[in-house]
Amino acid sequence: MKDAKSNHKISSADSTGSTKAKYRIRYERDLCIGVAACVMSSPKYWEMDGEGKAILKQGREVSPGIFEIEISEEDYEESFGAAKECPVNCIHIINLETGEEII
Ligand code: SF4
Repeated sequence: MKDAKSNHKISSADSTGSTKAKYRIRYERDLCIGVAACVMSSPKYWEMDGEGKAILKQGREVSPGIFEIEISEEDYEESFGAAKECPVNCIHIINLETGEEII
């Protein structure tokens, strides 16, 4: 069996480090009003549930109603678009290097 290094596409970041986690999406579910703008902007990370609220796909609940996931540089633009389109500003993007809340 080949070792993990042989899977170059997944294990090896390029010179920009684009495969590394650079940002965190933070979602405040209680504030969501179910407009689904996030799903339209970023279906990779967002879907609607049966209660008319958004789900941050694979997000972990870090405290009640707060979900987070780390993303790489390549997913930043799409994720920023979802956050920007949210009418109640319940999606935030945090720069993991600086700690800055970008939105
Ligand atoms: S855009 Fe905001 S309010 Fe609308 S479903 Fe997504 S998280 Fe909820």
